[in-house]
Amino acid sequence: MKIAGQVSLEDLPRIAPLLSRATNPEYSGRQTRVVEVRGVRFGEDRPVVVAGPCAVETHEQTVGIAQAVREAGGDMLRGGAYKPRTSPHDFQGTGLEGLCILSVAREVTGLPVVTEVMDPRLVREVAKYADMLQVGSRNMQNYPLLAEVGRAHKPVLLKRGMAASLCEWLGAAEYIAKQGNLDIVLCERGIKAFPSGEYARYVLDLSVIPAVQALTFLPVIVDPSHATGVAAMVEPASRAALEFGCDGLIIEIADFRKGPPRCDAAQAIDANTLARIVRFARARAEELQEQVTVA
Ligand code: PEP
Ligand code: MN
Repeated sequence: MKIAGQVSLEDLPRIAPLLSRATNPEYSGRQTRVVEVRGVRFGEDRPVVVAGPCAVETHEQTVGIAQAVREAGGDMLRGGAYKPRTSPHDFQGTGLEGLCILSVAREVTGLPVVTEVMDPRLVREVAKYADMLQVGSRNMQNYPLLAEVGRAHKPVLLKRGMAASLCEWLGAAEYIAKQGNLDIVLCERGIKAFPSGEYARYVLDLSVIPAVQALTFLPVIVDPSHATGVAAMVEPASRAALEFGCDGLIIEIADFRKGPPRCDAAQAIDANTLARIVRFARARAEELQEQVTVA
């Protein structure tokens, strides 16, 4: 039986010829394409740790958290100025003011900034402030947004749609690549599967990491915060993701001494936990390097 629109991983060289290993002989082995964001390199031996608040709320909150990320050994700052919220009545982010706050946080800490853009009309504006543009899970298949982001000459963090197959995810990345921008980092952030929402926010699909690595040369990182939605699960999920060979993590943190954050409070970890995750990531990378050297 023929089903319209049905695709499988075998179709990837046709769906994503710019990004498939099969159609790019220079990446026919196991090499990952290094994506550099202001000196931070995704896809090398050392996993990149990105951390920060869910949303940029105030100057004091974001700069304080950015300093904590720096002290914990994190490589980059995350924080949403434009927030995709389920209800239009919920806090939508601080917009342009939030972008300015992120710039200050970068100046103070030296950490490069990744922030989400949701509206194709705002891509140019957000790109003036961000070092890396994030396309969120809800917008993974917003094709005009992907094309606009691809034209912005900035590295892109492309989150997996919460119900997206691997073909759909890499097809979405191809929209960015088609504009001449191959500086794309993929991010697994949990998918909707049978038990999602019952004991964790989504289902963290770690099996996709080796599959991504087999099929494309783009780096892939993991978001254990949105995947689990539970602060106590973020550290073990991070360790598991690193064991699966991801190229980095993106994690939400908060300073609870200043009161709970306005969104995703239940999944935010503190700076001490982040520091432990960073230490684990560094130690694991060194161990793997030693194994390679011995072998
Ligand atoms: C985020 O990282 O701020 C976010 C909203 O994540 P996602 O798009 O994965 O839900
Ligand atoms: Mn969040």
